[in-house]
Amino acid sequence: MVKSIYRPTRITIHTEAIRENLRTVQEHLSADQSLFAVIKANGYGHGAVQVAKIAEEEGVAGFCVATIDEGIELREAGITLPVFILGLVDCAYLPIVSQYQLAIPVASTDWLKQAEQAYLKNPWDEPIAVHLAIETGMGRIGFIDSGEVKQAEVSLAQAEGFYLEGVFTHFATADQADATYWQEQKARFFETIAVLEAPRYIHVTNSATQLWHEPLGNLVRYGVAMYGLNPSSDALQPSYSLVPALSLTSQLVQVKQLPSESGVGYGHTYETTQDEWIGTVPIGYADGYVRKLQGFHVLVNGQFCEIVGRVCMDQLMIRLPADIPVGTTVTLIGTDGDKTISLQDIASYIGTIHYEVACLLSERLPREYE
Ligand code: PLP
Repeated sequence: MVKSIYRPTRITIHTEAIRENLRTVQEHLSADQSLFAVIKANGYGHGAVQVAKIAEEEGVAGFCVATIDEGIELREAGITLPVFILGLVDCAYLPIVSQYQLAIPVASTDWLKQAEQAYLKNPWDEPIAVHLAIETGMGRIGFIDSGEVKQAEVSLAQAEGFYLEGVFTHFATADQADATYWQEQKARFFETIAVLEAPRYIHVTNSATQLWHEPLGNLVRYGVAMYGLNPSSDALQPSYSLVPALSLTSQLVQVKQLPSESGVGYGHTYETTQDEWIGTVPIGYADGYVRKLQGFHVLVNGQFCEIVGRVCMDQLMIRLPADIPVGTTVTLIGTDGDKTISLQDIASYIGTIHYEVACLLSERLPREYE
């Protein structure tokens, strides 16, 4: 999808907010903990390369991404710090993983056997750093059995194309007030890895674990809170402030007064009940501003204005309090005057989490950094 720069709709990333969030978390790490910034999915919609460069300047020790391609994007942008891929990698791609010096997870004995075969068939130059994934209650990726974990360590010590760099798990409920399941996962993890000689990195901490649990491991995988978002939505309050980094704005491109009983939008789902000022805003569901946002609001001149009629693919209509000039700023995410619309407000309205809303914001939206 082409980025649409000749249109007044854009995302603004407030770089100082990301810097502040990184400085704050660094003040709260224990002395032996390294910070890896999680910038998968285009930096949760904030722009992976730009966020990586900011995080690098703020002294992070490395990055986590989800896919090989996301890792390559960072390398091609000149990032030389360690990059760990969180998702499983097909053995066919191991030469490229080695070429770009990406670290990867290993989640099963079968995979390791295949990987060793792949190396014997077609050896690569630089050995690949691997981290053993441990399944502790997320049900997603990882070894369950500590015997297999030990065996993996032994095989890796002999394997030429790989070396063991880390061991990790992922918590399913770190953002919930009830810590029972989190404690169970933690106990399972440390029991399972007790068989290992300590690899360089032991990592279990995501944003929510960092914010609401004891310090664990020596590498922190810090994602959503770096962007200033509360991982629990609003269920738990962070003990230190998080500054949201993303705003989304546009402008009114047409303003007209429609008489009473005029239809607005596809499906004629909204009809004016009196003379109404209707403004058109050039953003729609193809930008990731989803159709379910009909009836939600945006900010114009510091006032909430309702989205009326269905959100179209590229445009939406709002009800204005008066005849407001074309070109006036429309804030869809961010602050105008004393009012704010957050990613969380949108998420709550459409029944999802802010992570998803941020990731939905499409490539069509230019991202500007200030
Ligand atoms: N670690 C893993 C394995 C993840 O999948 C994620 C995100 O989904 C993170 C760390 C970062 O989590 P958060 O953004 O909540 O800090």
